[in-house]
Amino acid sequence: MKLASFVVNGKAAYGVVDGEYVIDLISLSKSYGESLPHSVQEAIDSGEEFPVKAEELLRFARDKKAIAGHMYPLGEINWLPPIPVVKRNIMCVGKNYRDHAIEMGSEKDIPEHIMIFTKATTTVTGHEQKVPVHDDATSELDYEGELAVVIGKKGKGISPDEAMNHVFGYTIVNDLTARDLQKKHGQFFIGKSLDSTCPVGPYIVTKDEIDAPDRLTIKTSVNGEVRQSSSTDLMIFKIPDIISILSKGMTLETGDIIATGTPAGVGKGFNPPRFLKAGDLVEIEVEGIGILTNQLQ
Ligand code: MG
Repeated sequence: MKLASFVVNGKAAYGVVDGEYVIDLISLSKSYGESLPHSVQEAIDSGEEFPVKAEELLRFARDKKAIAGHMYPLGEINWLPPIPVVKRNIMCVGKNYRDHAIEMGSEKDIPEHIMIFTKATTTVTGHEQKVPVHDDATSELDYEGELAVVIGKKGKGISPDEAMNHVFGYTIVNDLTARDLQKKHGQFFIGKSLDSTCPVGPYIVTKDEIDAPDRLTIKTSVNGEVRQSSSTDLMIFKIPDIISILSKGMTLETGDIIATGTPAGVGKGFNPPRFLKAGDLVEIEVEGIGILTNQLQ
């Protein structure tokens, strides 16, 4: 199931993406007197009950051919981040691909222990939303295409063996980074937290649709030119390890988003570096998930 949040006819909604359409689950459930969660966050919080109930309702409505009034072509919606208001900072793994660690410095930059930083909640924006280039704050804005994990079950002290039971699904993140600020201020927080520098989406794909999240192709292009082309099997720390290490002493909450790191090919890795400018179109494609597109302005 692909869960999206969006605005249509001036109203915020969420629903299931089905081919070139999205089905509004709020209006569909209302018209059948069913009670479904009112947001993607609530859907995640409601646990394993939600996908079963949602599928049931969709099947019933399809049989009755009554779904049309609740369906919108994707071109008619305004995409929101799948979880429009996140409860906590986006957690990000740094230098989780060997070749990227090397392009950021040298072999010495390959981490021995997992490296984690966060992006402020105010960085989150949706698919096809314009992202400011922030030229008053940085001259080195860079892209980072990443697979992201969405936590579906709260937990602490989660073992690697149990970790996948805590995953709700997957999405794509562009961990946009102001390289000059990242370097200047030591701690990454400012350089990673300029407003709207965390496009997320287009939607969350539930985990049942992704058999092997550690074997997905990942590709980032800028204005149609491929800059990053890799596979998630090159991650140094795999998803079960990331969840296990993060949850050791820190409770992971439902709806937490963890970006798993970016492969080689970021703008800073080129000589000379190729940072983003207004008008650039960044597209990140992860196999089995989709394409996250944002234009800089
Ligand atoms: Mg990153």
